[in-house]
Amino acid sequence: MKSTNQYLKPLSLKVNENLEIGGCDTVELVEKFGTPLYVVDEYTIRSICRDYKEAFKAYENVNMMYASKALCTMATSKLLASEGFGFDVVSAGEIYTVYKAGVDMSKVLFNGNNKSYDELSLAIELGVGRISADNFFELALLNEVAKAQNKTIDILLRITPGIECHTHKYIQTGHLDSKFGFDLTQVDEAVELIKNDYTNLKLHGLHAHIGSQIFETSIYGDEIEILVKEIARLGLNEINIGGGIGVKYTENDCPPSVYDVAEIIINRLNECIKKYNIEPPALFIEPGRSIISTAGVTLYTVGSSKQVPNGRKYVAVDGGMSDNIRPAMYGAEYTVQVANKPDVQNLQKVTIAGRFCESGDILIKDVELPELEEGDILCVYNTGAYNYSMASNYNRVPKPAMVLVNDSLSHVIVARETLDDLISHDRISQ
Ligand SMILES: *Cc1c(COP(=O)(O)O)cnc(C)c1O
Repeated sequence: MKSTNQYLKPLSLKVNENLEIGGCDTVELVEKFGTPLYVVDEYTIRSICRDYKEAFKAYENVNMMYASKALCTMATSKLLASEGFGFDVVSAGEIYTVYKAGVDMSKVLFNGNNKSYDELSLAIELGVGRISADNFFELALLNEVAKAQNKTIDILLRITPGIECHTHKYIQTGHLDSKFGFDLTQVDEAVELIKNDYTNLKLHGLHAHIGSQIFETSIYGDEIEILVKEIARLGLNEINIGGGIGVKYTENDCPPSVYDVAEIIINRLNECIKKYNIEPPALFIEPGRSIISTAGVTLYTVGSSKQVPNGRKYVAVDGGMSDNIRPAMYGAEYTVQVANKPDVQNLQKVTIAGRFCESGDILIKDVELPELEEGDILCVYNTGAYNYSMASNYNRVPKPAMVLVNDSLSHVIVARETLDDLISHDRISQ
């Protein structure tokens, strides 16, 4: 069955005279809220959440944990909590955001390869349900924090399962030479230390994450095999398999169906439960990108253009690498449509450039679009994940606003930054 992450555009998208998302006319959204503008479609988010829940319902003890780093705002956290999701968080900032959004903190897992004493203290104070310990240094630190608060902390061990997946090297995490997690050969030593020395820590299971934007489904089966084999040996009862399921940025991308991935995971899990003769463990899944990417688009206004003699035509928009670093960082590709001219007529090949002072600030290379004029609105698809969450103030450009749309209503969920916001932390020494 097809799942929401296999669509390129938000599910509520309609092509009228202008593009419409969540029942809202995109040109009207721009008139009201300006550009660049992140638009997030609630219907699409709820739809992928239901896909995940439906796909995994054949396994009794399954817990969905949204990986907040893909997009972390109070409104989206509240929405995902209402779908029954827990949260994977990686910093005090993400912990604080989900806490302020009213999330049940017992359904939050704190993960990361260099969490500070203060971050760990905050996590424990606010009652985070699990902490994934990444390395020996952190085990010692965690035990210290737990002792200081006179608490026992529920933990997992993050491991590197030694699985190579075919994705960009910056987003591979499960191979052996990685900065994340314990090598499998170090697990026994960690377990002994917890048992004998770190008595304020209680180990429940193992955690792994093999990469991101994954299209290959079989590696999830390999991951399950490694994790179950290890927890069986160690007498643990929880596995967290991370996230990574891919999305469709361009027509050439064929991400897997969540239903197919779930089938592989559950079948292999059931096989391994028999093979290693254990009670069915609690299964945790941490999708980030596949939950939020398809729901998001970015709207830009077209400004200047430049025809290189005998070369490319560049058309510049009012955003770029500060609101979407992925093309510059990973060579990521995106799909664009003209929001106020969705018909495809008089196509011309152009390159969409950002407004930032870097030659690499190109959003989309060599794309066929109707002839563009100043003031046209471009809609770039699949910008829900790792766009706002990686946004910067490069060139002292304020970050865009974000609106959530649904049922013909739009709500600002992140206000546009102002010039005063930009200087609000500056101090002039007297
Ligand atoms: C990044 C990350 C995820 C989410 O990855 P996606 O590719 O966005 O699904 C899940 N778990 C861990 C530990 C991560 O680091």
